[in-house]
Amino acid sequence: MATNPAEVLGLPKPAWAADEVGMLYDMAHRFMSEEIAPRYDEFEKNEMVDRESWLKAGAAGLLCASMPEEYGGSGGTFAHESAIIEAIGHVGVDGFGIGLHNSIVAPYILHYGSEEQKKKWLPKLATGELIGAIAMTEPGAGSDLQGVKTRAEKDGNQYRINGSKTFITNGQLANFVIVVTKTDPAKGAKGTSLIVVETDEVDGFERGRNLDKIGLKANDTSELFFNDMRVPTSNLLGHEEGQGFIQLMQQLPQERLQIGTGAIAMIERALTLTIDYVKERKAFGKAIIDFQNTQFKLAELKTEATIGRVFYNDCVARHVAGGLDPVTASMAKYWLSDLQGKVVDECLQLHGGYGYMNEYPIARMYRDARVQRIYGGTNEIMKLLIGRSL
Ligand SMILES: Cc1cc2nc3c(=O)[nH]c(=O)nc-3n(C[C@H](O)[C@H](O)[C@H](O)COP(=O)(O)OP(=O)(O)OC[C@H]3O[C@@H](n4cnc5c(N)ncnc54)[C@H](O)[C@@H]3O)c2cc1C
Repeated sequence: MATNPAEVLGLPKPAWAADEVGMLYDMAHRFMSEEIAPRYDEFEKNEMVDRESWLKAGAAGLLCASMPEEYGGSGGTFAHESAIIEAIGHVGVDGFGIGLHNSIVAPYILHYGSEEQKKKWLPKLATGELIGAIAMTEPGAGSDLQGVKTRAEKDGNQYRINGSKTFITNGQLANFVIVVTKTDPAKGAKGTSLIVVETDEVDGFERGRNLDKIGLKANDTSELFFNDMRVPTSNLLGHEEGQGFIQLMQQLPQERLQIGTGAIAMIERALTLTIDYVKERKAFGKAIIDFQNTQFKLAELKTEATIGRVFYNDCVARHVAGGLDPVTASMAKYWLSDLQGKVVDECLQLHGGYGYMNEYPIARMYRDARVQRIYGGTNEIMKLLIGRSL
């Protein structure tokens, strides 16, 4: 049985984590502990996980867990994806980008792909033969996605695509990229379309630098360039052009909830490691945990982690039942990632100088946590969306 920090802390167990979801968590935890964690320093140094690990994850059933079995998936729900992402966070291999592949990229194909597209791509995404990325952000368009400039022009049975993207997760390894393009710039958001690029099959596709980040070092994040890149028109997602913005808006809640998954998992790991540390470390003749300040700090953090876990569990239950609204998903992304930043910072403080040393896991958590408030829509944009519901 895997050690689940949420259980160690005695946090409320979600109803959706019963039976086979729990078994999947244990299996994912074992896989991450045995296959990824021992090589994680190497992956951080190389600034990417290797392709072999993706294939192993596929063989272990950890890719496309929520895709239907007829397309090579495991027929699960977001609860299953959550179990896998929680295992990643609990083991501390946060840079292994299968969460984005599983619960962001694959669902676009399931929801908007034709039968032919689903049969062609989903089984390969499930084995890891295809590694997925989604390319929305451009140097001049991040929060304001309507400003996307990448242009796709129809030319016979092909699109000619020109433009560039930046900050793309899995950008060095991905050979399957969903690109946000403008098929009709005059129509603004209504002229936006999602086009799949199988990068091994096209000319005019170029990867830029693997960007030098302050954290999440084991994850490749890159620029992508499209120079007269030709893609079959059959790679358009959806029955017609101009659906891209609606498709993005429909899928972003799951992306945002998934950022909350990573947040709650890291919060739980940070707390359990810190509680262990303050019990061991001594100052002024007693263990650090015996100082009232330590107990009060950890009492506050454990309370907030409990609130976070209850909220998160409720969001997943609603999402699995089909009822998680975009506003609540924005709340989950913003509040849980903010809490993650706070908990990790306070836990680092309780480690003293050792917390600042990379050999202590809390140091890496501190670096890895920071981006959670930025990607997937910044927390300011989340508040903007929540504000619109007032
Ligand atoms: C490690 C990493 C991985 C990423 N992975 C991906 C990926 O896989 N695919 C992808 O497409 N993108 C990815 N991104 C991009 C990410 O989604 C964007 O960085 C993010 O949406 C913010 O856009 P920006 O960087 O252009 O910031 P800007 O939009 O320039 O924002 C700058 C600041 O202004 C604030 N701001 C902007 N507009 C408003 C407003 N209306 N009101 C108040 N404040 C505002 C923002 O909150 C922010 O604080 C990734 C980014 C990082 C760092």
